[in-house]
Amino acid sequence: MAIPVLDDAPPLIAPIPFSRVRLSDDAASDVVDVLRSGWLTTGERVLCFEADFAEFVGARRAIAVSSCTAALELSLKALRLPAGSRVLTTTDTFCGTVAAILHAGLTPVLADVDPVTAMPSAESVARVTDEVGGVAAMVVVHLAGLPAPVSELAAAAGLGLDRVIEDAAHALGTWVDDRPVGAISRATCFSFYATKNLPIGEGGMITTDDEDLAHTLVQTRLHGLSADAWRRYRPGASWRYDVNEVGIKANMTDVQAAIGLAGLHEFPRMQQRRAEVAARYDAGLADIPGLCLPLRPARGRHAWHLYAVRVRPGFGRDRDALAEELTRRGIGNSVHFIPVHQLTAFRSVCLGPANGWPNAERVHAETLSLPMDSVISDDEVTRVCTAVRELGVPS
Ligand SMILES: *Cc1c(COP(=O)(O)O)cnc(C)c1O
Repeated sequence: MAIPVLDDAPPLIAPIPFSRVRLSDDAASDVVDVLRSGWLTTGERVLCFEADFAEFVGARRAIAVSSCTAALELSLKALRLPAGSRVLTTTDTFCGTVAAILHAGLTPVLADVDPVTAMPSAESVARVTDEVGGVAAMVVVHLAGLPAPVSELAAAAGLGLDRVIEDAAHALGTWVDDRPVGAISRATCFSFYATKNLPIGEGGMITTDDEDLAHTLVQTRLHGLSADAWRRYRPGASWRYDVNEVGIKANMTDVQAAIGLAGLHEFPRMQQRRAEVAARYDAGLADIPGLCLPLRPARGRHAWHLYAVRVRPGFGRDRDALAEELTRRGIGNSVHFIPVHQLTAFRSVCLGPANGWPNAERVHAETLSLPMDSVISDDEVTRVCTAVRELGVPS
């Protein structure tokens, strides 16, 4: 019998990853069905996923794409704004939000955030809009899954909702007041990236009530080929097509759609688990000096994509030190987000407030996202809470 060497011995305590995915048996067998069907790219599964997804978020149409970043770029281009038009968004977002504005040939305007919500307030939106001389459109981000007041922010920017796009990468399951995110603004863009609430690995969706916009998007996501040109390789189909507008290559495959369809059926259960995990964190982390817990919305519904705490001076250790110690103990963590204005490539191409982004910089320095997904166990949540408590000042 071989003597176990130390390196092969299992760690005494298993690490807790920042985010995990557990695909259902249904997803696995549906993927195998697609792989054996003889058709791998955009097809019937994508159509089914689009129909189920639109119904789930209460939108008339859903258009499946390759990523949320592509969804944002396509939606912004479909607004048909003059080249270089100013588009307002938050600096506290993933760089993809702002890259999409640039890829659409538009000029990003980055608003500072409210120190409590970490999202722009009506006041910060109104101020920067005024300072840059008005904006043509806005991308609203529901950070972490917390609902942003879309209509209020649009009004503050002097825009109608037809000039608003939502970045809902964190917001499948978010409700603004009494409505699910999905048909509030002109177009809503979702992500199915591996760490998001409905993980496929890669993928995105645009939902809208605007039939004309949907018609444009169905074409521009696939080179601009006239509608349904994906059928041209099907038996009996014609090879003919036209290109009405030059598009990009951002269609979704049937393999992705099979995973998405199975995930959508499980989604309410997965969301319920996220809400339970958030409640356990709230209870387990309560009363730790210098630790601020995530805001709960007064109205609407939080999707709990992230569980991000704020490490204030009273904690006794700064955010970086806490992150380092948690990592050392095998507890995954992350920071959402590095403000976009601090990223080298974006610095010179974005407009912003005259006095900079003092709130976003402070929020960024204090923010830490703890492990959050629908797989984490109660024991693991308790371990995270205990570790955070031990790492703070003794109370
Ligand atoms: C993940 C994310 C995106 C990009 O999503 P992809 O599907 O990876 O393109 C955009 N915005 C925010 C806020 C995100 O977190």
